[in-house]
Amino acid sequence: MSIAENLQQIKATLKEGAELVAVSKTKPSSDIEEAYAAGQRIFGENRPQEMKTKAEELPKDIEWHMIGHLQSKKTKYIAPFVSLIHSVDKLSLLQEINKRAAQNDRIINVLLQVYIAKEESKFGMDESEVTELLNSEEFKSLKNVKVVGLMGMATNTNNKDTIQNEFKGLKTFFDTLVQNKYPKNIELTILSTGMSGDYHIAMEEGSNMVRIGSSIFGSRG
Ligand SMILES: *Cc1c(COP(=O)(O)O)cnc(C)c1O
Repeated sequence: MSIAENLQQIKATLKEGAELVAVSKTKPSSDIEEAYAAGQRIFGENRPQEMKTKAEELPKDIEWHMIGHLQSKKTKYIAPFVSLIHSVDKLSLLQEINKRAAQNDRIINVLLQVYIAKEESKFGMDESEVTELLNSEEFKSLKNVKVVGLMGMATNTNNKDTIQNEFKGLKTFFDTLVQNKYPKNIELTILSTGMSGDYHIAMEEGSNMVRIGSSIFGSRG
């Protein structure tokens, strides 16, 4: 099936109000153009320089989302234009994003990545680290970043219960945070969970932003 057909099929199954991030990492700009022509505007990348190159050659109304682990020193490549960073996993990174956002005279929206999988390789903070960060004076002083939600990746497994429980746990934590009173630079509305293999489960468990790559663009080499 073509990229446009894949997109159409996925969109037909999305829960109302759920946003689709088309994950175009490693794929050529021509693939993004095809998805763009089919109406897709949000694209996810995981390498800062690759995102910058693509952003320069593609239409300016594309919203670029950084979904992969971000090294502080590479923040500068995307700070002028990135619309959401999904993968913030420590205060020092948030401070660097704040600094680069200020240099570009803008506020950058971010999600905090929460570790929910039973795997060593996934990045992210645990719940207590998130709470600590949000309550810290250092965070409250940041004027050029806004925390707009949480992101999580489930264990890469065929066990549906495991995945479901991990997403459910993150949604519960999200709901708890939403109840709390926080400073101006927090407004929690986005729960980014779900990829090609598990986005149906993620939506059942409250996801309102799914990040889908291979089901749209085909498998990555
Ligand atoms: C690559 C990637 C995706 C998309 O994965 P698919 O299985 O191709 O849909 C989603 N989220 C993150 C963080 C990724 O790195």
